[in-house]
Amino acid sequence: SRTPSRKGSAIKLNKTLLDHLNELESQFTVSTDLLKRVTERFVSELKRGLTNQPGDIPMVPTWVTSCPDGSETGSYLALDMGGTNLRVCEVEVQGNGKFDIIQNKYRLPQALKTGTREELFDYIATCVKKFVDENHPGGDKKLEIGFTFSYPCKQTSIDDAILIAWTKGFDIDGVEGEKIVPLFNEALKRVGCNNVTLNAVLNDTTGTLVASNYTKPGTEIGVIFGTGCNACYIERFDEIPKLHDYRLPADMSMIINCEWCDFDNQHVVLPRTKYDLAIDADHPRPGLQTYEKMIAGCYMGDILRRILLDLYENGVLFIGQDVSKLRDPLAMDTSVLSMIEVDPFENLDETQQLLENSYGLATTEEERHLIRRVCELIGTRAARLSACGVCALVLKTKKQSMMVGTDGSVYNKYPHFKERLEAAFKEVLGEDIGSKVITAPAEDGSGVGAALVSALQAKGKALTKE
Ligand code: BGC
Ligand code: MG
Repeated sequence: SRTPSRKGSAIKLNKTLLDHLNELESQFTVSTDLLKRVTERFVSELKRGLTNQPGDIPMVPTWVTSCPDGSETGSYLALDMGGTNLRVCEVEVQGNGKFDIIQNKYRLPQALKTGTREELFDYIATCVKKFVDENHPGGDKKLEIGFTFSYPCKQTSIDDAILIAWTKGFDIDGVEGEKIVPLFNEALKRVGCNNVTLNAVLNDTTGTLVASNYTKPGTEIGVIFGTGCNACYIERFDEIPKLHDYRLPADMSMIINCEWCDFDNQHVVLPRTKYDLAIDADHPRPGLQTYEKMIAGCYMGDILRRILLDLYENGVLFIGQDVSKLRDPLAMDTSVLSMIEVDPFENLDETQQLLENSYGLATTEEERHLIRRVCELIGTRAARLSACGVCALVLKTKKQSMMVGTDGSVYNKYPHFKERLEAAFKEVLGEDIGSKVITAPAEDGSGVGAALVSALQAKGKALTKE
């Protein structure tokens, strides 16, 4: 493997720790050869998803058939429901890559993610109403809203979406298989928000691509590496066999939302460890989202937690201590790995404080070095496997270079994620093309992108199936 690491001379571990670490190294290391095999399988699954054959990756048509040409203007509301926050924005699209945005952020309470659908949609609608009341008092101005709903949906038009399955730990009855827009509209009525009309529903990757393309023309892929992981890209109609009945011009194109979190649900190529299997078994949607469960921010903390518990059970770490805090499935999130990976102290003092204060666990310096290396293994595997999806899109579209609009907490905050990703691009695609796959932080895709899609829709530039 060519994975960069501080392994070896920097860490001196006793035999027990070293043996366990070596075992983890072998399970979590993704070699160049494996990267290539995963990518190859990925390309064939992307292609299959564009046909009517059943497969793991749905390749959802978004009905967004053009990106902004710079002439779009106007004021649009955007609602962003991601895995962690809820945001309401008002975006003033000024044309030529320019915009102005005001926004309010609301935390999405954990309980809502597993509550009832009315609770969820009422909360969303209440946030919209609060924002509208503050910024447009009087309630008489007609406002259009684009809804960035970052979960896998089937779309028959730009203002229609049926939830396929909840991801990112959500588990709310009565929404899967249902149309999202009426649920949202009914909630708006219940909370008395009558001047807001939804005119577009989109995935966060779509928003990211559209917003990135607006500010950096030429961008053809939008990716989220965050709580969840997914991508969309621009595809020509003649490459989308499942839409051929529509007889659209071959050289016209549409944004396809890959919804690649389900890649390898058939378990052909991804090297799942026992920790991945356990996460899947305890998940509200076992058997689904195989790829995402190995790479996304939603799960990285849980992978670490399970490894630490396993090391405890094996008498390697925290010997004789009370590990009950670690038994809470939500005990660790990805920020724990981030903090440990960037701990600047030679003796990993910050890691010591963190484990002590948050989990009541004492560690030796040696143990902390083992833990840090485990974090690196999880973070590096996530980045390298994430890279396969992007490389597959580059290969599928036969591009020699690619601009990738990118967003998400893992990309923006996880230490070394970008370097690890870029290293993997080169290993899979070769130095020449790999170094020309450029990820660039997107301009708030879920806000600005939603507003731009609303603007395109208002100009009649999006298609409908019916
Ligand atoms: C969802 C996608 C979304 C991604 C990033 C995944 O869990 O299925 O729709 O784009 O997370 O937020
Ligand atoms: Mg988001």
